Amino acid sequence: MSEGELNPVPIDQLPPLKFTAAGDNPDLREANLQAVKPSPGYSYLVVMVADAITKRADLVLMDFTPNAVGVRYQVDGLWHNMPTMPRTSGDYMLASLKQLAGLDYRERRARQVGQFVAEYLKKKHKCQLTSQGISSGERVALVINRDKPPLENLEDIGMRPGMQSQLIQLMNEPTGLILISGLPGDGLSTTWRAALQSTDRFMRDFYVVEEKSRQEPEIINVSRETYDSSRGETVLEVMKSLMLREPNVVAFTELADAAALNELSKLANEHEMTTFGRLPARHATEAVMRALMLKPDVPAFAQALRAVSGQRLVRLLCQTCRQAYQPNPNLIAQLGLPPARVPVLYRHFQPSPEQVLDASGRPIEIAPCENCGGPGYYERTGIFELLLVDDRFRAAMQDPEPTVQKLAAAAQQSGHITLREEGIVLVARGDTSLDELQRVLKK
Ligand SMILES: [Zn+2]
Repeated sequence: MSEGELNPVPIDQLPPLKFTAAGDNPDLREANLQAVKPSPGYSYLVVMVADAITKRADLVLMDFTPNAVGVRYQVDGLWHNMPTMPRTSGDYMLASLKQLAGLDYRERRARQVGQFVAEYLKKKHKCQLTSQGISSGERVALVINRDKPPLENLEDIGMRPGMQSQLIQLMNEPTGLILISGLPGDGLSTTWRAALQSTDRFMRDFYVVEEKSRQEPEIINVSRETYDSSRGETVLEVMKSLMLREPNVVAFTELADAAALNELSKLANEHEMTTFGRLPARHATEAVMRALMLKPDVPAFAQALRAVSGQRLVRLLCQTCRQAYQPNPNLIAQLGLPPARVPVLYRHFQPSPEQVLDASGRPIEIAPCENCGGPGYYERTGIFELLLVDDRFRAAMQDPEPTVQKLAAAAQQSGHITLREEGIVLVARGDTSLDELQRVLKK
């Protein structure tokens, strides 16, 4: 074996992983699998895929540079660097991966996409492999489908029960505008879907209006209308014909301009409809500020608006390996928590100095947690805020020079619980750590 290569694991000591290779029929799939098994990269491939599944990675990224292969796992939305692989071993592994996915293993430049199935500990995972040559070498992405439970309603996404009932009640009112906000790629479309699905969509005629190229999965009993922005169309084109059908509820997935927002306000104010708009923002007051920056008809917008939601995805502490600690009383006071009620907080597992080095100063290897595979967190949940719009907040919206600070001050005076305060409840319960909350709030 040449220098810098990994030791292959003997085939009888490999993790119990079963593959279904790519192929149009069972015979071909079996033949393709049998062709891969004797190849030198097969054992590396088995070890890597089993490791990625154990660590709950959704995505494995491999960067092939001249001397080495950088490997990263994405777990619960966060990247984790893995040990670098020597290039020779990496090449062997990639050749086997490509064969398994039905791709040409000699092709290192053109983009290729293929699939296979990996079965590990009685769970099947569909895997998609994408490879493409880039200037520094070749990039390979392996998406591992972990079959997470579907997030269909407000409870599934982690909204607390009191907030769920407030939001549902507002959504089922016969009139008013509700804005759903969040950061794109941070669970916003999931919340949008969960909110619409939690609305009464059986007794009312419910329409969602979407841009043609950005359609989202259908929702039962919600009719979809689309416009084509590449042809210069906007939501308004759709509304002309939609109004003839006398809808009760209209939702715009995108609020591109003042005209779209004015339309939702008008429908709520003058046509007694419930309307929904979705827009990207860091928190609820920022969402309102962004809407105001579109330069809409502000009095109409303020009159129509009933509530604005904001959110973040936060990783949950692994209940197996989380560590309790006694927080500094000043910290507890800063967080606004009653000291007597919160004697301990929790953080993710961090080995103590004695656990890291032995008596002679040599590093000790610590077996990763069996539940989370090492990072100290397990899955994610949403933290939500729900800004209830009252007359004080409406007045702040109509300030001649509105700012996020002015809006936030008005919200606070009316007792609004911010995203940070909602998140601190999860910290106090030991569901997440202060570090994690601070990390997501900085986004
Ligand atoms: Zn753990």
